[in-house]
Parts: sequence; structure tokens; C-alpha cells
Amino acid sequence: MTALSIVVPCFNEEACLAELHQRLGGAARIAVGEDFELVLVNDGSSDGSWPVMQRLAEADPNLVAVNLSRNHGHQLALTAGLDICGGDKVLIIDADLQDPPELLAPMLAAMAAEGADVVYGVRRSREGETAFKRATAHGFYRMLSRATEVDIPLDAGDFRLMSRRALNALLAMPEQARFIRGMVAWIGFRQIPFSYDRKERFAGETKYPLGKMVRFALDALTGFSSAPLKLASHAGLALSAGSVVIVLYILYVWLAGRSIQGWTSLMLVVVVLGAIQMFALALMGEYIGRLYNEAKGRPLYIVQDIAGRTAGTGRTRLGYVAEATANKDKPGGKGQRPIA
Ligand code: UDP
Ligand code: MG
Repeated sequence: MTALSIVVPCFNEEACLAELHQRLGGAARIAVGEDFELVLVNDGSSDGSWPVMQRLAEADPNLVAVNLSRNHGHQLALTAGLDICGGDKVLIIDADLQDPPELLAPMLAAMAAEGADVVYGVRRSREGETAFKRATAHGFYRMLSRATEVDIPLDAGDFRLMSRRALNALLAMPEQARFIRGMVAWIGFRQIPFSYDRKERFAGETKYPLGKMVRFALDALTGFSSAPLKLASHAGLALSAGSVVIVLYILYVWLAGRSIQGWTSLMLVVVVLGAIQMFALALMGEYIGRLYNEAKGRPLYIVQDIAGRTAGTGRTRLGYVAEATANKDKPGGKGQRPIA
């Protein structure tokens, strides 16, 4: 098995590719020698990204270039690369060199030293990004961590190093709307942060305009929390409760003889019907939330180790059994090829 795969989703990154190829190749050789593959995924670019990738692949046996049929979006392009790659460890990195490839060796070292399955980059600072982007990202990650049941790390993107068994567990989640950094957090194992300074884009401009960012944020929120649905049902229940008070008021006005003809019956019908409708909506919300959860088709649990029985690994009827160790070379999770 290849020691390391590096997966890069690319959308209109023509201007970055040559530099990317060179710096990633250099960083990988320092870390693992020649035993690596670089998987570039062309996500339906409309510029010359694909021809450039083909040319690079012809000259470099370590390079695998994958061409998607159209633009599938960042998370799916990344998923394609992760699905296709064959490495024992995998590094996820953007094509624009905002995340320095040179951190690969220290991240591998951290993974080995801590016996971790995931080393995720945490942005200490972000260069060359607009104040708007920084502010929205800052707010978004904090809101997300309050709304979700899974502990999704703050200020972490997809830049991360993963063990094969963590990757396999991730690939056992068949859901369509993929928020990969959240899904990785969901699978568990030992995950450690790695602080770094995020650089400016090497070339080109962001492929995440506001629209895509909002879509992404919605996927994150709805994929990992039913808080928005709960909000609707809580409002429904509160309104139903409130209607009891209103009904009492209507009856009081009627008994006091201060109502005009027809007002009491009309008000009662409006309030009671409204309450029943709200209640029905809340009930449906609960069922839709459960349906949605089922539809994601995630394994119900992930087994990290089984002692006393050698069992196969992979998807079981209801869950997922991971390989026994994070690092293949030596059991115990401390194995690591020497850094050349
Ligand atoms: N990307 C992609 N498909 C898309 C949008 C983006 O594959 O539809 C890739 C892009 O080429 C880059 C990564 O996803 O490698 C992150 O995009 P970008 O750097 O533009 O996002 P930002 O860093 O501005 O959030
Ligand atoms: Mg970027």
C-alpha cells in the first residue's frame, strides 16, 4: 500500500497547479520518500486546469489526475479523491496553497507521537482574506458548535491528515449532503489539532462566493443538527400553549357580556384551529427530523477495537468496525516510517 495519498480538489486552479505540484511533491518526498501519490481532482473546471493536470500526470508517475464530469462542488470533489486514493494515510489540502504543504512532515510526526487518527489544521491566523469572510467564518464556526451535538472543532477547514481506518470510516457514511470536517469529527478516534497560519491564495480568487458559502453553512447546520426544525416545533408548542390563555380571555369577555354577537364563536374557531395547525406542524417537524436522520444512512456506531475476537473490518449490518490500529507499520499506533 502506498504510504501517503495527498488529495486536492481543484476548480479553475490552472494558475496554481504547477506550483502546487512542485511544493506538494517536495514536501511529500521529505516526509515519505517516493512512496506517495498525489491525487488531483478536476471539479469541472472551465479553465485549462484539466490539460495542465494531464500534462503533469504524463511526466510524473506519482500523480493521479481525476476528471469529474461536471462541477460537483468542493465537498464532492474531495469525496471523489478520498474514495479513489489508496494511501495508508491521507492528507487533504486545497489547491490554492493557503495551507502550507511543508506542514506535512510535522503533521505526520504529531500523528505518530500522539498515536492519533486525525491531525486537523486549526487556523491561528488568516492572511489575505476579506474582513467579511473572516467575520462570517468566525461567527459560523461558533454558531455551529452551539447548534450541533457533535464537537466540530472551531476554525478548522478540511486541511487535515487522516489514517486509513479513519478514512475508511468516513467513506462508510453514504450521505449526499457532505460536510466533511463535521463528518470526520463525528467518526471519533483520537483527533488532535495542529495550529498554523493560513496564507494568502497563491493565485486566482476564492471559489467560494457568498452563495456557495451560505449553501455550505446550511449543509453544515442541517447535516449535524435538527435545531432549526426543533425551533419550529418549539414555536408551535409555545403558540399552542398561548392559545389556552387567549381562549380563557375570550370566555371571560363573553361571560362579562362585553362581546358583540358572533365575536366569541369566531374567535374560538380561529384560535383553536390555529393551535391545532401549529401542533400538527410541530408533530410533522419531529417526524421529518427523524426521517432525515434515517435517510442519512450512517452506521449507528463505530467500533475502534475488539479484544478477544478477531473480527473482519468494515460495514457490519448496523455499524462499522474499524481496523485495529491507526498506523499500519507497528501495532499500538506508534508506528511511523522515519522522516528522511
Ligand atoms: N473547489 C472545488 N470545487 C468548487 C469550489 C472549490 O473543487 O466548486 C476547490 C478549490 O479549487 C480549492 C478548494 O476547493 O482547492 C477550496 O476553495 P477556495 O480556496 O476557493 O475556498 P476558500 O479558501 O476561499 O474558502
Ligand atoms: Mg482557499
